[in-house]
Amino acid sequence: MNLQGLLGNEPIKAVLNSHPFHAYLIEGPEGSGKHTLADLITNALVCEGDTPPCGVCRQCYKFREKCHPDIFDVPSDISADAMRGILAEMALVPNDAAHRVYRIEGAERLHPTVQNLLLKTLEEPPSYAVFLLLCNAKEGVLQTVRSRCQTLTMSPLREDLMEDYFRRTYGTYGEKEQAAVALSAGFLGRALTLYENGGGETAKACRQLEEALLKGDTAQVFRILSFEERGELAAFHGAFSLHMKRQLRNCDKSRLPLYGEIVRLWDGAGEALQTNVNVKFWSTNLARLCLSARERA
Ligand SMILES: [Zn+2]
Repeated sequence: MNLQGLLGNEPIKAVLNSHPFHAYLIEGPEGSGKHTLADLITNALVCEGDTPPCGVCRQCYKFREKCHPDIFDVPSDISADAMRGILAEMALVPNDAAHRVYRIEGAERLHPTVQNLLLKTLEEPPSYAVFLLLCNAKEGVLQTVRSRCQTLTMSPLREDLMEDYFRRTYGTYGEKEQAAVALSAGFLGRALTLYENGGGETAKACRQLEEALLKGDTAQVFRILSFEERGELAAFHGAFSLHMKRQLRNCDKSRLPLYGEIVRLWDGAGEALQTNVNVKFWSTNLARLCLSARERA
């Protein structure tokens, strides 16, 4: 499979080029490249070229035009009856390609009844059928379904890969591009979103947290630092660190002790944050660190 269109993620590429599976569970937060990967796999499965996806064959053309008769996008709010219908039709051989590809976005939102219907097919699928289940966190998908899928977990990218991408796409890697990458926790889609909308929401939350700390508004500090998703927490951690370092360079002298202390404690927490998986604990912990910085300064 030609997976050049996907940056980094070497372990996933190794799995895909080892041997084929009939079901993949693609897991990763928003902006981590799940759709890019799902598109590459789908396109490769229907392509009739030598190194699929070749991009030039009849099948690749239909894929690009979104009119391939063997690709099915199944909505995550599908009813049990509709799912039964799709699974019954699966007995029909592909129209055009060697495979029929079924893609389900937001697999964690599928009703358990629907997941159980799917499970029966995953246990004995027709040889030509391939399922791609996309989810933000695989824990939302029934264990029985997961056990029938090859899980592909999207990884954050190294900064040099992202820098290279920005240089190729925008021809530059200045302060604005670096800020987007720093706020993205290594997920390219997120970096591009931040780059395109200037990181508006995150930047606002950074200013609000700074204000709340100045005022000693404990409730607001805990409210802002109440992340439930690891990627979001990691992105905000990077963003606020940058924000405070910038403020430290430009702030009034009276604020130096507080800002210096916050930056020190905040950066000190960075490594634990990378390895610790308990997001709620770390959100609360960061709030406590900030408030303790306020007491000390
Ligand atoms: Zn092709």
